[in-house]
Amino acid sequence: MNSLVLSRVPLLGVLLFGLMACVTVPKDYVPDQKVVFLMQNTDFGPISYPALAADPYVFLPSTAAVDAEHPAFLQVTAFNTYLKADLKADSFLYRSARAHFESILSLPLIAQLRIQLDQAQIQPPAALAPDHGDKVQDYTNGTQYQYPGSPNSLITILNSGTYIINFEDRSLFQADADGTLLWKDAQGNQTQYFNPKNRSVGIQLGDTLFESTPVSRRLRGPQGTMEFMKAPQPQYRFTALAKGALPYVLFLDDSGGILACSVATLSGLRYDWFPEDKSLLITQGSQAISLRDDFQKAHATFNADTRKPGELLSLFLPQGVRLTNLTGKTPSWGELTPAWPEGYVSKPMGPFDVWYTPKDQGLLANLKVDKLVGLEAKDRSLTGLGTSARHAVVIPPDLAAYRKLHASKPGEVLHWYPSGFETLDYIILWPFSVPRYDQPAGQDYFYNQEIYEILAHEYVHALVGENSGIVHPVPVWLNEGLAVYTECQLFPDAKKYWETTLTVARDQGRFLPWDDVTVKGTGEYPVAQARTHYAQSYGLVKALMGHFGAAKVDAYIQSFRAIPGDEGNKALIPGYQTNFLAVFGVSWTKALDLMKPEPAKS
Ligand SMILES: [Zn+2]
Repeated sequence: MNSLVLSRVPLLGVLLFGLMACVTVPKDYVPDQKVVFLMQNTDFGPISYPALAADPYVFLPSTAAVDAEHPAFLQVTAFNTYLKADLKADSFLYRSARAHFESILSLPLIAQLRIQLDQAQIQPPAALAPDHGDKVQDYTNGTQYQYPGSPNSLITILNSGTYIINFEDRSLFQADADGTLLWKDAQGNQTQYFNPKNRSVGIQLGDTLFESTPVSRRLRGPQGTMEFMKAPQPQYRFTALAKGALPYVLFLDDSGGILACSVATLSGLRYDWFPEDKSLLITQGSQAISLRDDFQKAHATFNADTRKPGELLSLFLPQGVRLTNLTGKTPSWGELTPAWPEGYVSKPMGPFDVWYTPKDQGLLANLKVDKLVGLEAKDRSLTGLGTSARHAVVIPPDLAAYRKLHASKPGEVLHWYPSGFETLDYIILWPFSVPRYDQPAGQDYFYNQEIYEILAHEYVHALVGENSGIVHPVPVWLNEGLAVYTECQLFPDAKKYWETTLTVARDQGRFLPWDDVTVKGTGEYPVAQARTHYAQSYGLVKALMGHFGAAKVDAYIQSFRAIPGDEGNKALIPGYQTNFLAVFGVSWTKALDLMKPEPAKS
């Protein structure tokens, strides 16, 4: 699972350059102080917070007691219930299902009935002959006689060929012209039969009725029904006699071992338990959910005929993230049902769902809905990238929570604090309750401008991710370049800054190798080089947008989409160059020429 964390570079260090649009750039210019650059103001800078290590959240499964006999999952009526990312619920479901199926499989009754059914001799009974004695009565459709050899018994022979023998004890035998045979006891219950059409045979032995056809055998006794079928796969089907009891099917392998135990509920949900790998499969129609013993859950298409899962549709992550619509032509998206311990609540604000902790409620007023609406729409129109869902914006309550959300592996040190970042299709903003600047003017800048720049930038990452399928990496320069490009179209200050940085980086020959900026995130570089990474990425994307247009750039983004888990998923190197040629029709080397400065006008 690629947990790509796309980060902005923080505003660290204090370098004082009062650069205007046309300036002579100092040779040692290192543009790592965007705020100072933009504001031409040295009164404030971002507060420097200590570099600290953090672990990602670790989520614990449910340990609640399960009811093996009457598990709640058998009452679930909607498949969609299982499409939430909820580790507690998933682990409880898994443990309940496992306990339930293991108890079913160990029922002595099932073993007994299997033996009883396997050993029963179910042979077609011999018909009684239509012998008769003296005539008793004529009917319009037949004649009744004394039945010989059995006192006070009668045989009625119909013109159709059917004959019925009524014995003194009120039991009867009937034979039809087509060969159908039937015995009934004195109470009128069928005790034996033979049906020549499907060659089915039934025999009552004591309190149990045994039946067979060429393809199945069945017994119906006081404790339930057990049936065996050879096709399409050898299986026993057990249904307890209790009212409302569901049928359980044991699927067998060639040597008679149990491959799976399944039960289908009245609402059409089917649960299959696989003892060998201890996994659970839940299916309905053309969809399937699988749960493994480590509680990993996946959602896929399902072929009801072959009973095989197909394309992966959704992945569920333990922190409460569902990544879905991973295949197909429309954008993927992520859904947040966070299981983080901070107690987030969600509030719709324009096109975003803002997740915050109640103590920060008052600070939400700093987010202006009209600005959110505007930047969301402009991001889409500038990039040409579509989206399928509302997006989550998380405001952590403190820096500890911020660090944990940022950490992708245990002990990860946050050397610098970006003002926001995007991961797994949600955006995390700097905690509103933690001062980012030490002066009021800085805080004003943060709330009035920087937040919207961050959101415009990070939202582009979300759009790129959705269009490339979320779980598939795209070249980092493409992702960052498009984000900075969009930011620059929306914010003239940002454009001034990035244009200057691009010019300096290019003209002073500081560009980083393209293979490197294809796979390495900006956060993996020291600040000055990270700024160069952004700038050269911006420069190339700006050139591509200018020469080829957004539709081609979007096609290039989508060219990195692949089916999750597909071995054919190409490596970014050299994939980014081969895909480039395929989409733009221009070699990579030629494309880089587009970034060269225009010749000076004479
Ligand atoms: Zn970025």
